Amino acid sequence: MTQNLICNHCGKELDFFDLQNDFSIHKRIGYGSVHDGDDVHMRLCSDCFDKLVEECEVSPIEEMDG
Ligand SMILES: [Zn+2]
Repeated sequence: MTQNLICNHCGKELDFFDLQNDFSIHKRIGYGSVHDGDDVHMRLCSDCFDKLVEECEVSPIEEMDG
């Protein structure tokens, strides 16, 4: 049985490239979040990842040159 993975943000089915990038967060949430004590399994497609990066005040991207 294959389960299609979807982007939690936009609901799009993740394609091959999205899966290769694997923009996902899997962890138990601790204090400081309204979801503390819950488990998070979040996946993003490449488009939503790009949007998220653009919204960041401090870019998490380290650009590789050469
Ligand atoms: Zn998405």
